[in-house]
Amino acid sequence: MDIKYFDNAATTRVKEEVLNEMIPYFSIQYGNPSSLYSIGRYNKRAIEKARRQVAELINCETNEIYFTASGSESDNITLKGIAYANKEKGNHIITSKIEHPAILNSCKALEKQGYKISYINVDKSGIVDINELIKEITNQTILISIMFANNEIGTIQPIEEISKIAKKYNIIFHTDAVQACGNIPIDVKSMGIDMLSLSAHKINGPKGVGALYVKKGIEFDSIINGGGQEKGKRSGTENVAGIVGLGKSCEIAKKQMDSHITKLRELRDYFINQVEEKIPNVKLNGSREKRLPGNANFSFKNTNSQELLFKLDSKGICVSSGSACSAGNSNPSHVLTSIGLEKELAQGTIRFTFGEDNSKEDVDYLLESLEEFILNQDNS
Ligand SMILES: *Cc1c(COP(=O)(O)O)cnc(C)c1O
Repeated sequence: MDIKYFDNAATTRVKEEVLNEMIPYFSIQYGNPSSLYSIGRYNKRAIEKARRQVAELINCETNEIYFTASGSESDNITLKGIAYANKEKGNHIITSKIEHPAILNSCKALEKQGYKISYINVDKSGIVDINELIKEITNQTILISIMFANNEIGTIQPIEEISKIAKKYNIIFHTDAVQACGNIPIDVKSMGIDMLSLSAHKINGPKGVGALYVKKGIEFDSIINGGGQEKGKRSGTENVAGIVGLGKSCEIAKKQMDSHITKLRELRDYFINQVEEKIPNVKLNGSREKRLPGNANFSFKNTNSQELLFKLDSKGICVSSGSACSAGNSNPSHVLTSIGLEKELAQGTIRFTFGEDNSKEDVDYLLESLEEFILNQDNS
């Protein structure tokens, strides 16, 4: 069966151009980048080219990019690396209630070690409460980490406003931009971002490789110690093929940014309008305006999202649900709970995330299938 994939926030397909760049590094270009002979140096150069491609996407210096094994690892390095390096300065970190588990669970780990974490509330559309954030700042605050855009509901945060606040109080500002990077323009310099996490597999690159931008002058401890790769900040023989793939996917993302945004917005807005027109009792979650170009997140009344997910799957359609189900008992995600969605609606929540491969015909097929299943539900 032909797969119609609407889960691009979960992962994306590696583009042919990206794969082709990567292939030699799995076989003929096998040198260790730390080796001094030519085939080692060749791979070192490949890594440095990729570093430039990543830096150009977010407008930073090449030596401000560190390669990691994932977006999750970039988030871990940020929270733990900054916490450990600033022990003398303070023990307080500010984040939001709707962060990715890589942030929230790193915070939980730090709490066990005595750090204090403030989890800021968000409004109904998922935007962080700036006044609460300011109120939480103390002379112990060493880091503010707020995601650029949310992976479930697509809400884009007022990043520049938050970075200005952080600057005013001389606090390091990190943003998890794994969903935003490559999907909307990011300029770390003009936006005043000190640290930023990104991941290749969310932007048509390979899985298992990410990057962390750290503004020059910011000290952070290493949490993976070893042979001293990545200036001693992230040891381990480099995933050369993955890094080359990440570099290429960043280059393509930069080149195609405008057309990518236009395409995804058109699909998204068409889908949102059609759902709201054709299906009664639906609620669009997240912000209508401050929203990732490819994200639509709907709650369908009197619907079990997991049942709907598997019905759609039977037609080759991939989407994601907003709750984790165990033995028929579904618990809404922390994001849906934080935006105040009633449990009944939360249980019928589906995330649709569009990508480069989707066409309007695919969206029509999705709409037909949705209508078929939802309008024919037995709600007795
Ligand atoms: C996917 C995702 C991550 C984790 O990235 P991985 O490379 O899959 O570890 C972190 N934050 C957000 C917002 C994400 O969407």
